Amino acid sequence: MGCKQRIKFNHRVSQSYMFSLKILQNLKVSRAANNHNVLNPNNKCRLSLCVLLCFIFIYNLSVLSCERPEYSRINVALGTVCTVTLFDQGKNSIYNDIFNRIREIENLMSVRIPTSDISRINAFAGIEPVQVHEETFKVIKRAVYYAELCSGAFNPAIGPLVSLWGFNNENPRIPSQKEIDEVLPLINWRNIELDPETNSVFLTQYNMALDLGAIAKGYAVDEATRIAKKAGITRAIIDLGGDIMVLGEKKDKTLWNVGLQNPDEEQGFTIGYLQIPESSVVTSGVYERFFIEEGKRYHHIFQPSDGYPVNNGLLSVTIIANNSMDADALSTAAFVLGYEKGRALIESMPSVKAVFIFQDRTIRTTPGVNLVITDKSFKEIYLSRVTMTE
Ligand code: AMP
Ligand code: MG
Repeated sequence: MGCKQRIKFNHRVSQSYMFSLKILQNLKVSRAANNHNVLNPNNKCRLSLCVLLCFIFIYNLSVLSCERPEYSRINVALGTVCTVTLFDQGKNSIYNDIFNRIREIENLMSVRIPTSDISRINAFAGIEPVQVHEETFKVIKRAVYYAELCSGAFNPAIGPLVSLWGFNNENPRIPSQKEIDEVLPLINWRNIELDPETNSVFLTQYNMALDLGAIAKGYAVDEATRIAKKAGITRAIIDLGGDIMVLGEKKDKTLWNVGLQNPDEEQGFTIGYLQIPESSVVTSGVYERFFIEEGKRYHHIFQPSDGYPVNNGLLSVTIIANNSMDADALSTAAFVLGYEKGRALIESMPSVKAVFIFQDRTIRTTPGVNLVITDKSFKEIYLSRVTMTE
């Protein structure tokens, strides 16, 4: 039997903080556990450490962006570390509104909260439709839209598979082929029935389960951004476990620098950084939550067609887009689709860009991405443009 060498769940929170990541690495701190582990009472120490480290991140972020935020707030919500930095006019009341909103979304959409809309839908799978809050309905509808768009590569009905592999608890494991075969019929997203008249959701098969882990955080970032803008905030960084929105522009009018995690390394090492104006940056990668058994990495993003973690040569896909919910869904979708199909999907959307990082340390981007590579062991491959002449 294989011996489990390493179980490692990571936060994505440090994606943007190139310098702070190194501090984290130097401290040789074992990363706080996966997104929900930090909520486990047994992990209070890890949680405090994580929050402490985030303060270090924020300090370094201010150095990185050459701006000292008046104030930043860090909280654990949505099963991850959420960091909001409002430059200039950050007031307590605005932070409160933002974090209350994030908490509301968590209470509606988390699979780990038994009273959430998602848990109720799952509990009544195969039994009866469940009426949900209109915004839960909206996010599920968007998730189903993306499932349709990419033929199920993005699959909000993935819940039973995530549970089978143990990625929603602290004991991930490789299930048997028989177990996987039994679960595959339960992850058919076409068996999600939506009734817009009543905002009801019905999973037609018993034991089906929704999991909005690949989209809900993005929605929360958009909501946090909306609240900040409404309150008159013109410059901010909202980072919910690595789903990032940079709002407005830096004081010196230069572009924001958002670091890209090196997927091969401990969290904290970047391959370089993106230079972007106001936009959202979201990454799906093999390094976020994974375990290694007999030298092989098993991560948390699944290929719905075979029930195994995606294994297509990609280490991560980063999406740059105007809004975070779409960036979140698209990063997962493109990662599961793989480079060729993923790139085609992204290029079909004019305002969306992507960075694909491969196991062989090559990087490919869609047109218009402003990426500065600082780790020279990674190499950008440029597509040769063939001009057709008559
Ligand atoms: P992300 O980090 O945004 O790519 O989301 C990954 C999370 O989404 C996982 O932890 C699962 O909860 C869920 N997930 C895994 N595979 C898929 C998939 N193929 N489609 C949609 N959600 C998925
Ligand atoms: Mg996602």
